[in-house]
Amino acid sequence: MYQQNFLRKKRNRLLAAGIAFVLTLIVTTTLVTINGLNNHQRRVAEQAQLVQSSLNSMLSDAHEATQKASRLLGGACDFNVEKALNMLPGRYRHIYSINVVHNQHISCSSLLANKHADIGFVLPLDKALWMSRTVRSPDIYVISLITHLPQGTLYVASDLRFLYEMLGSDLVIQVSGKTLTAAGLVKDSLAAAQFSHYEALPAHSPLYTLAWRKPEMSEIIGFTLNSWLSMGFILSMSAIMAALTWLLAIRRHSLYTQLANAIRQHQIHPHYQPIICAKTNAVSGAEILARWHHDELGFVPPDVFIPVAESTGLIIDLTESLLEQVVDDLQQGIAAFQPGFKLNLNISHAHVVDSTFDLFIDYWSPIFRALGITLVFEITERENIDICDALTRKIDHIKRSGIRIALDDFGTGFSNLAFISNLSPDSIKIDRMFTRQISQEAATPLIDCVIDMAKRMNILTTAEGVEYGYQVDYLKANQIDYLQGYFFSKPLCFSDFAGYLKRYRD
Ligand code: C2E
Ligand code: CA
Ligand code: CA
Repeated sequence: MYQQNFLRKKRNRLLAAGIAFVLTLIVTTTLVTINGLNNHQRRVAEQAQLVQSSLNSMLSDAHEATQKASRLLGGACDFNVEKALNMLPGRYRHIYSINVVHNQHISCSSLLANKHADIGFVLPLDKALWMSRTVRSPDIYVISLITHLPQGTLYVASDLRFLYEMLGSDLVIQVSGKTLTAAGLVKDSLAAAQFSHYEALPAHSPLYTLAWRKPEMSEIIGFTLNSWLSMGFILSMSAIMAALTWLLAIRRHSLYTQLANAIRQHQIHPHYQPIICAKTNAVSGAEILARWHHDELGFVPPDVFIPVAESTGLIIDLTESLLEQVVDDLQQGIAAFQPGFKLNLNISHAHVVDSTFDLFIDYWSPIFRALGITLVFEITERENIDICDALTRKIDHIKRSGIRIALDDFGTGFSNLAFISNLSPDSIKIDRMFTRQISQEAATPLIDCVIDMAKRMNILTTAEGVEYGYQVDYLKANQIDYLQGYFFSKPLCFSDFAGYLKRYRD
């Protein structure tokens, strides 16, 4: 059984570490990818800014050159006019040529070679801006600003070559239905299928549109996988999370193993904390509390090992082991108990719902009856217990067997009047949180209310965590039935408890 458990736990640990690895892998990969995508978008946005400002300055130069050239065009295109036109491009960084068009032919130009050229195939004069090859050099692309003046049509061509490099593989520019890419000029507009994965950036000019290419999935994954740093980060985070989960599971498992051994070897002992009757001041009973002194770890608090015992099913073995030791203690004969002396045992919800619970009751109730002891099961209200038929039947079984029920930690959890009436406990243990609120100065109506309500329902009350004399006085004045706490005694091993009972009686 233990071997089976061990193998199952090992499989579970491996599974937990594997899940932690995969989950961390997914989360970190997503984060790194989002980060990579953001970086890419930022880079493209910066690049787009550069392209845009270059294009704008190019167009504003062309505009200025147009104005200057228009002043030269009053009469015939003589040597002086041509010379003056020829001087103009030199003043601007990208202007390639300045031309005057009459009847589809260049009548005057800053470039001598352009004169008389037919522009019919190259330049539609109904557009304001046009991208095309130059009239004389087919391998040079220009962007032409076309202006109609009374003296004729003037177009200023600016060299586009320097823009190619700036566009890179992610940006394109659309002008009057044509698109400039890093690979050259394409006759299609952005609406064409080949540009379907491009998205226009917010418009900054009515003359052109700048668009960026949305990265494909394979590229997005590439942003992540291409970086060794990212891969290293992702893998090491996943490995760390898997290792942490593994270690946590081992720690939990090792606590489980140690707890199982400790229970088997009766290393977890019962301690007894006296419960005092408020009316008679006699010790009317005691609460059994588990104590574990580990050889290496020292004292392990119940708040640490009880939850592990509850979640692993060991709580049943632990409770049995405690009761066996309690019976051994009682049979030593070193303490005499009044008939009806109560021993309160903490019973976990996990135990109540177990199929062996009825057998547990049938086994132990006659043993304690024979010893003259009244058993009280303390059932905590901290857990949200579902009152179903099976539970009601078990509660009846407890009562029919002569075992009393106390509702533990009252006021800290889920109990409501319906729960209390279903459980119909013999007593309520008011949590020490409320006892702590009793002060010498102010009234504590909450605790008064609880005592009052219990009285009306015919339920006995025990105040937990009583530490000071003024708390005893206050509680007695408010008709509490039983008192428990360090004021009277801490939980004691059996021999000390027997000594305490003797001293208390004398
Ligand atoms: P609990 O049932 O509420 O037990 C009372 C707790 O209050 C005990 O802590 C006790 O030592 C402590 N206590 C008693 N009087 C005073 C006081 O005047 N002042 C203060 N500050 N504390 C006081 P302990 O022994 O550490 O147990 C903690 C919890 O662990 C218990 O709370 C109970 O829920 C659980 N537990 C302990 N032993 C067992 C057990 O054998 N079975 C189960 N199922 N649970 C157990
Ligand atoms: Ca208790
Ligand atoms: Ca309690």
